[in-house]
Amino acid sequence: MLRIETPEIIWEAGKSPYSKRFKDYYFGVDDGLLEAEYVFIKANQLQARFSATFQLKSTQGGIKQQQFCIAETGFGTATNFLLTADLWLKSTLEQDCLRFISFEKFPLSKKELLHAHGNNLSYLTILNELIAHYPFLLPGWHDLYLFNGRIRLTLWFGDVLQGLPEFDCLVDAWFLDGFTPSLNPEMWRPELYSQMARLSHRQTTFATFTASSDVRRGLEQVGFAVNKQKGYAKKREMCFGSFERPRQFSDNKPWFSLPKKINSDKKEICIIGAGLAGAAVAYQMATQGWKVTVLESEQTVATQASGNLAGAIHPLVTADWNIRSQFYLQGYETTLRWLENWLEQGEIVGDLNGLMQLAVDEKIEHRLQDCLKRVGLPKDFAYWCDNQQASELIGSDTKYSGMFFPNAGWVNPKSIVEKCLSHPNISVNFNQKVKAISQLDSEKWQVDTQTEQFISPVLAVATAGLDTQLNQALNLEIRPVKGQVSHLKHTAHSLKTSVTHQGYSISNIVLNNKAYTVSGATFEAPDLLADISASSHQTNFDMANSAMPNWLAGVENNVTNVVGKVGFRPTSPDHLPIIGGVVDGKYASEHYYTQSHTHAVFRYPKQGYQTGLYLSNGHGARGLMSVFLAAEMICSQILGTEQVLANNLSNACHPERFRVRRWRSGKVAL
Ligand code: SAM
Repeated sequence: MLRIETPEIIWEAGKSPYSKRFKDYYFGVDDGLLEAEYVFIKANQLQARFSATFQLKSTQGGIKQQQFCIAETGFGTATNFLLTADLWLKSTLEQDCLRFISFEKFPLSKKELLHAHGNNLSYLTILNELIAHYPFLLPGWHDLYLFNGRIRLTLWFGDVLQGLPEFDCLVDAWFLDGFTPSLNPEMWRPELYSQMARLSHRQTTFATFTASSDVRRGLEQVGFAVNKQKGYAKKREMCFGSFERPRQFSDNKPWFSLPKKINSDKKEICIIGAGLAGAAVAYQMATQGWKVTVLESEQTVATQASGNLAGAIHPLVTADWNIRSQFYLQGYETTLRWLENWLEQGEIVGDLNGLMQLAVDEKIEHRLQDCLKRVGLPKDFAYWCDNQQASELIGSDTKYSGMFFPNAGWVNPKSIVEKCLSHPNISVNFNQKVKAISQLDSEKWQVDTQTEQFISPVLAVATAGLDTQLNQALNLEIRPVKGQVSHLKHTAHSLKTSVTHQGYSISNIVLNNKAYTVSGATFEAPDLLADISASSHQTNFDMANSAMPNWLAGVENNVTNVVGKVGFRPTSPDHLPIIGGVVDGKYASEHYYTQSHTHAVFRYPKQGYQTGLYLSNGHGARGLMSVFLAAEMICSQILGTEQVLANNLSNACHPERFRVRRWRSGKVAL
């Protein structure tokens, strides 16, 4: 489903909200809170189970680990969530983390959420926290880390039957909400129950307000024991129960099954590359209490594309909201989550003052307009501007209309790298050009540089595009694409927001009390020379000039003495990054590539990996929208913690995908 539709609620004073779509009330009675407590909290015995969690784990201390997982069909007005969150915060300690997953096909807006709870002040703090983190109303997976990470709320906007297959987690308690089965038969289907069984374990419970015989039968058929009890208030019956028949389910893409978590007592990781990708992994692991050693071939950090004065932060809008848009939406949300606070505190340099994507040719205009029609982008994410509005917003005349992203902007990537690497658990070793990496045994990696040797149980490689020797050794299909940016001496005026056209232009980049303006960047593959050229500066001026003719009018920017920078974007064949554990080539060859690609899927084993070896590469020109998500993915693979990305998106970034695709399409992979 591409378009998120509105819930169409009728609000009647003193009554539960009424859904025009489903012809049903969100709650059976006026006091939804009491009903929710009776049906979902009590029947799942959450009070006792939360307290048991606390007693079991409270001695462990330290880093936040998920201890309880609830999944709900129908987030609706968030009433169940508010109650559960309140109970969790009251019953557990600072380091305990609740995972609450909720699926919602017709999400309420922030205004509607506030309206729904307008008169009830009991849960105001939680409601405000939810509203402050509430995501864009766009389809797919959204992670909200509330109360300093004590609650991780994963909202899936879209149909629950499409969402559930994208999850791989163990649910401790199910809240089966979602309107009366007779009024919403499309949701209460056998696929719902079989997905519940796939994600349940022996202690998993469920509760639901309905006692419909179809629902009971459906749950029993997949292995739940179902009990009935008196329903809330005037309702005759409801049901609840527990899962009794756990069993194995086969992966539908076993070659993309993820590596096992690392079983090392030593919490140590070595990371090659001190650009954005490496620094983000380093920071993520350091915050988990790991000791991090970063190796950098140069004398300083962020020497490649991460060394540009400014990089634009903005999502990718495709006409049909394809897998790349879906990935970069989550990447964008993750980036904002990492950077907003640092920007506010002045710890990194940048400004989220909006970004205008000018539609500089018909193709782009059609793409953006098509997306608006099909996906119906929410205003806080992006909206269309004619050329006059665009000119006003950017502060310079343009003949182009465009799409404005109010929450986007620019950052100085180097300041982020420095912020990440300043974590006390991280040490950075410069002038360490890696010559070889080798696995000593299944628990150790050795990295040989020109001068030293480093040994570590876990190794992450984030060396971008230029280290051909290492990239070849890792079988990486990365192409370095040269780009030159120009640092303009003069402009007729400053831009009020970041602007993208054929390239991008950004004003007011203040570093060490000096203001810079950049415009760029060229695409010059297959040139691998790092030289700065006057002709590339000219290309940059021409791109900016044709988009905003008054910006550079009347000011001299002699191309022969303009300063600039050349970087190489590490680009993958499908323009998605390469993230995660590295496959054991021999294993993959034996179990997949030398086998027929037409067997039934369950006949293939899970993927085999080189234990402890991970990649974050191929971030192309969009590294600022992917490196933080990549860091979270790698960290969750290393620690075996909860997945951070939907299965289909995680598969789309899998390091082995190119060879798997060739094999699956009947072409020889190796
Ligand atoms: N649990 C909610 C709360 O605490 O406010 C109330 C849920 S309300 C009774 C049912 C919700 O299920 C509605 O918000 C509806 O949009 C959603 N829903 C119905 N069918 C769905 C489906 N197939 N996939 C996802 N959500 C669905």
